[in-house]
Amino acid sequence: MAERDYIVRATAADEFIRAFAITSRGIAERARRAHDLTPVATAALGRLLSAAAMMGVMMKGDKDVLTVRIDASGPLNGLLATADSHGNVKGYVGNPNAEAPDRPDGHLGVGAAVGIGVLSVIKDLGLKEPYVGDIELQTGEIAEDITYYFAASEQTPSSVGLGVLVDRDGSVLQSGGFIIQLMPDVPDEVISVLETNLKGLPSVTEMLSAGYTPESMLERVLEGLTPEINGECGAAFSCNCSRERYRKGLASLGREDLLSLIRGDESVEVVCRFCGEKYEFTAEELKQIADAASDGNNKE
Ligand SMILES: [Zn+2]
Repeated sequence: MAERDYIVRATAADEFIRAFAITSRGIAERARRAHDLTPVATAALGRLLSAAAMMGVMMKGDKDVLTVRIDASGPLNGLLATADSHGNVKGYVGNPNAEAPDRPDGHLGVGAAVGIGVLSVIKDLGLKEPYVGDIELQTGEIAEDITYYFAASEQTPSSVGLGVLVDRDGSVLQSGGFIIQLMPDVPDEVISVLETNLKGLPSVTEMLSAGYTPESMLERVLEGLTPEINGECGAAFSCNCSRERYRKGLASLGREDLLSLIRGDESVEVVCRFCGEKYEFTAEELKQIADAASDGNNKE
């Protein structure tokens, strides 16, 4: 079991390949506890958080933010993960209680839980408009969907492996993944070595259970292609919510809507969708926020 979560970056085959790998048990377990997720929901969100964290560190800007959103018909009722470029990631599922039958191979039925729908990647790179790429879900197993996204939306042939192993008590035993990307004009012989390696590759959770680290996973996937590990970055489930942020959020509702929330002296509890943190606002506070909002909102 890995001690801490982190991401490594590597290149191989004279930089015709770039690669990322993550170990993310802490991230997936934190998500499970924050949202009280069923095993299949833990697996689905854990996979998406791992992918988003790696895609986050691919971004160059300090303040860049990436969101991967899945809108789909399955019992999970969609899921979403948001990452920055420093290994911080957070996310949630539409329905934390989702159940789905296991697959015939005994794995959790992530594809069935996700269902049919669309995967969108939204990158806020500090430009006027965010970059948005949409694809149809291929299997709902998430790794295949992200692979297809890279090919169809970013024209970058990739191989993505993601896995979450859930214990009998529902806690996360292993979580992690990798992303391998081919740069333009990659020689055919490099592709054929990579394909052979991928064919014989155990699953991500098998590798992690056998003691593989992100470094050794990449060395295995890129065997014979002179991989070079050239960076590491800590990774964590991290939410930037605060009481002040929610106070501002409430203020933006406007006076009428805010007043309609107040029932006598009862306080209102706001729960962060991303991390489950609860913030309580008393009726008195809500009235104050509403009064302040009416001052600021008299343009209409
Ligand atoms: Zn939060």
